[in-house]
Amino acid sequence: NEEKSLNFIEEIIEDDIQAGKHDGRVLTRFPPEPNGYLHIGHAKSICLNFGLATKYNGKTNLRFDDTNPVTEDTEYVESIKKDINWLGFEWAEELYTSDYFDQLYDFAVQLIQQDLAYVDDSSAEEIAAAKGTPTEPGVPTPNRSRSIEENLTLFQEMRDGKYKDGEKVLRAKIDLASPNMHMRDPLLYRIKHAHHHRTGDKWCIYPMYDFAHGQSDSIEKITHSVCTLEFIPHRPLYDWCIDKLAIFPSKQYEFARLNLTYTVMSKRKLLQLVNDKFVESWDDPRMPTISGLRRRGYTPASIRNFCERIGIAKRENMIDVSLLEFCIREDLNKSAWRRMAVLDPVKLVITNYPEGQVEELIGENNPEVEGGEGSRIVPFSREIWIEREDFMENAPKKFFRLGPGLTVRLKHAYIVECHDFVKDENGNITEIHCTYLPNSKSGEDTSGLKVKGTIHWVSVAHAKKAEIRLYDRLFNDENPAAAENFKESINPESLHIIKEAYIEPDLIHAEAGKGYQFIRKGYYTLDTLSTADHLVFNRTVTLKDSWAK
Ligand code: ATP
Ligand code: MG
Ligand code: MG
Repeated sequence: NEEKSLNFIEEIIEDDIQAGKHDGRVLTRFPPEPNGYLHIGHAKSICLNFGLATKYNGKTNLRFDDTNPVTEDTEYVESIKKDINWLGFEWAEELYTSDYFDQLYDFAVQLIQQDLAYVDDSSAEEIAAAKGTPTEPGVPTPNRSRSIEENLTLFQEMRDGKYKDGEKVLRAKIDLASPNMHMRDPLLYRIKHAHHHRTGDKWCIYPMYDFAHGQSDSIEKITHSVCTLEFIPHRPLYDWCIDKLAIFPSKQYEFARLNLTYTVMSKRKLLQLVNDKFVESWDDPRMPTISGLRRRGYTPASIRNFCERIGIAKRENMIDVSLLEFCIREDLNKSAWRRMAVLDPVKLVITNYPEGQVEELIGENNPEVEGGEGSRIVPFSREIWIEREDFMENAPKKFFRLGPGLTVRLKHAYIVECHDFVKDENGNITEIHCTYLPNSKSGEDTSGLKVKGTIHWVSVAHAKKAEIRLYDRLFNDENPAAAENFKESINPESLHIIKEAYIEPDLIHAEAGKGYQFIRKGYYTLDTLSTADHLVFNRTVTLKDSWAK
């Protein structure tokens, strides 16, 4: 992709390399908090961070930003690692902010010694009130003038567990009149008597994001620390800490986070969907999580492609979710093997086809590539299932499928002509009767007959039963996150289950994660919880964009 113009972060990096900064070394990091599963927004950050490293011969660290013991869990750590690898990336080092707790504590002590931090006994409300407003300066709380010695003692006591949660905090001593509210003596440490998933009960004080993140970057000698736009106002504090501590000068750069239509993306909200049982799990195929997309049948390449296409911007924007669908459709059109499945079956009997006879027809796997990637056997017999919608009793002129007197080609098989049908007492069609043309077999057709339509089918005697799950968007509102209660716009019809579809027998070899095009019916993959006794397929995406209504 040499010819593509550089994004603004690549421009910065190329300037830095040119200027000989850090000897041309590039080290980025991806810093997830292990408090949920990764979502498609994280994929954007992953592709960016790992992509930059690859492009500039650098490396990317995976750093778990685990400074909040209450919400974090090792289950999340494992899922995050799995998802990054699945997306196709490898980190240089697996690191944890909690590994730096001792070092971060020492940094805090250093700031106290420089009279740049103090212990404040004020409550959260008192601190907030004293901070002033963007147009009015804050006022010092009584503890701001504590001596260095007293602060050192109190901070040590905080660490030793002498105080309860919220009783004291450590604050930076910067500027209570700063136009940037983040610079008005921000909190550096808070007391939290909580068990940490890695450090156990060693600590009862934990660093705030603003104190942990930049210093962790610096400890690792990260050259370009990329984060989302909401951290712009935090940057002066990021730089202030590094400057005052005189440590490695990592730099923060911000890009626009990914927002997708009809999707919520905050882990907090996704967790609510799971806990409130709107979805089955974090990897429910309707979820915008990496694991949900994987289970739905998205490929790593399609997600990387999507991230490449949306690019990196400096302003918030909203991406149409149909672009994501476009990317998987494009990928699967090239790679998915074709198979036949009948989702709404009605029986078709070929009255002039010998009873008990079976033909093993050949269907190529992938017509999009030369050689077709091999083929499979498709058994054909006197009775087959076809889609109910492919027959009409009173067909209009341009209906190129079946009805009395109409002809159609059966995919990979013969041309059939309909001459009769059977109805039950409710008027439902129960059987369609056709005759076939023995000299019209696909590939060796000498019938001379031209038919406009081709339909898919499955031999009744050979068909396997399967459950098919059709997914629709999870929200009806284009921007569900903007609503006061995002759960109000949940689409009650986001999942439609077809209990008994008939699929061609070769599909018993289907693998979860491998995409199949069910001819005329969309792209599907085997569900991860499918079993031989109960086959389940998920629809990844429809064949065509059905949302552009
Ligand atoms: P959430 O609000 O969904 O919980 P987060 O930013 O708190 O997201 P982290 O685990 O801290 O989640 O995110 C890890 C990295 O991924 C951060 O660098 C963050 O900026 C980035 N990231 C998170 N969401 C998005 C998004 N929607 N688009 C791009 N990058 C994102
Ligand atoms: Mg975060
Ligand atoms: Mg968050």
